[in-house]
Amino acid sequence: MSQASLSSALRRMEASPTTAMTDRASQLRSEGRDIISLSVGEPDFDTPPHVIAAAKAALDAGETRYTPVAGTLALRKAAAAHYERDLGIACAAKDVIVTAGGKQALFFALAATVNPGDEVIVPSPWWVSYPQMVRYAGGRVVPLITHAHDNFCFDPGDFSALITPSTKWLVLNSPGNPTGAAFSAQMLDGIAEVLRRNPHVLVLSDDIYAPLIYTDAPHCSLAARHPDLASRICTISGVSKSHAMTGFRIGFATGPDWLIGAMTKLQSNACGNPVAPSQAAAVAALTGSQDFLGQWRETFRRRRDLVVSAVNAIEGLSTPVPDGAFYCFIDASPLMDRFGGDDGKLALHLLEHGVAVVAASGFGGKNGFRISFAASEETLTQAMVRIAKALS
Ligand code: PMP
Ligand code: GLU
Repeated sequence: MSQASLSSALRRMEASPTTAMTDRASQLRSEGRDIISLSVGEPDFDTPPHVIAAAKAALDAGETRYTPVAGTLALRKAAAAHYERDLGIACAAKDVIVTAGGKQALFFALAATVNPGDEVIVPSPWWVSYPQMVRYAGGRVVPLITHAHDNFCFDPGDFSALITPSTKWLVLNSPGNPTGAAFSAQMLDGIAEVLRRNPHVLVLSDDIYAPLIYTDAPHCSLAARHPDLASRICTISGVSKSHAMTGFRIGFATGPDWLIGAMTKLQSNACGNPVAPSQAAAVAALTGSQDFLGQWRETFRRRRDLVVSAVNAIEGLSTPVPDGAFYCFIDASPLMDRFGGDDGKLALHLLEHGVAVVAASGFGGKNGFRISFAASEETLTQAMVRIAKALS
């Protein structure tokens, strides 16, 4: 097909660099190359057995047909209870839409609201798909630049300074991908103050990594801490990361009626409904015991500590300690001359040495790369040895 046939919306969008690098690593592996892939963010743990059992039982019970567009009532109820229990956001089943992964919820929220010329403020480094979704909708991405020396947090005054009459959304992602930074309650209070002065600004709060936090301070959700703003906040969650269910494709959004209704209208025409047996599995995930999470968190914390000390021991590399999620965002500025200042070349160089990572520029950053530490300690240790050798 000719490029000229593509819509201008599609031409504004680029493919996700995380999935592109992961596909590339899989391809090289299938050709027999020994590649450690730290490029994709997905837990390496097995999906809990009771979740698998629920998916099988749903298939055996004939749950193979269309479901209500916004998801089964059982899952919407379970998701509403999850919002209240895990994020402190009071909501009912009718306030929730179930989507094909958190990714689709984000896409629908933006596609349902962003007009050409609208501005969306996104803290950078950002998760790769936010700017692509905004651009697809015709909006303008306004980066709110954060730095490693501030642990990738921002001053609410810097957010305030970027607001214009065209600002539609602020995107928040805490703990964040790719930095792992978690926003404190005090920081959210500052953001809330700015929002109160700017009633036209909506907030897309992507809390998908909330259960994976390793600090003493618990996760803090904007809509929970500032319920007076909840009618302007869309909170995204899901089971991909918390329950190792990336392939099930189940995510959720809760927010004001008008937005959940608009997203449901989009879903009715885009995909009909989320996958029926996956929805049954997600009910089991949310209503079953969450006890395994303590063990997962502990394992991730150990891996994080291993990776952070290994990275900081390599000359030319540095990273702050991520608070949550399973990513390390690594600065390689002192080494960039060797790669002509192009961190895409740095990522390719590491791939040549058997480790797949994603260049910082894919996340709106520069001079570095992201690794996912959702891999065993042996694998991570081996990867760090390869990275050290490649950069020596
Ligand atoms: N938000 C962030 C920040 C992510 O890293 C991901 C992972 N791809 C998602 C949303 C979407 O996750 P999923 O669609 O697998 O639920
Ligand atoms: N969130 C994961 C990542 O950043 C999965 C891939 C994707 O959807 O981008 O690697």
